[in-house]
Amino acid sequence: MQKPPMQQVQIDPRTLEDVKCSKGSLTPIGACNNKNFKQVFQMKRVSALVSPSGKEEIITMPVFVCDKCGTECKELKKGA
Ligand SMILES: [Zn+2]
Repeated sequence: MQKPPMQQVQIDPRTLEDVKCSKGSLTPIGACNNKNFKQVFQMKRVSALVSPSGKEEIITMPVFVCDKCGTECKELKKGA
């Protein structure tokens, strides 16, 4: 196994900022602020016209949703 040519950075997860659910942050009730997310899958239908195999296919995409309100975590989409 080859090591990546990056410098190893020591990070203490406890010092990092939490990603929290921002659902409702623009409402008077305030944001959900839940820190727990669960992984679910979204499925996309690939039509035969654009599919590399020439047949209709289903692809799955893992997404994270808030464990409390079920809202998709938007933070992850920024880098994707
Ligand atoms: Zn939430």
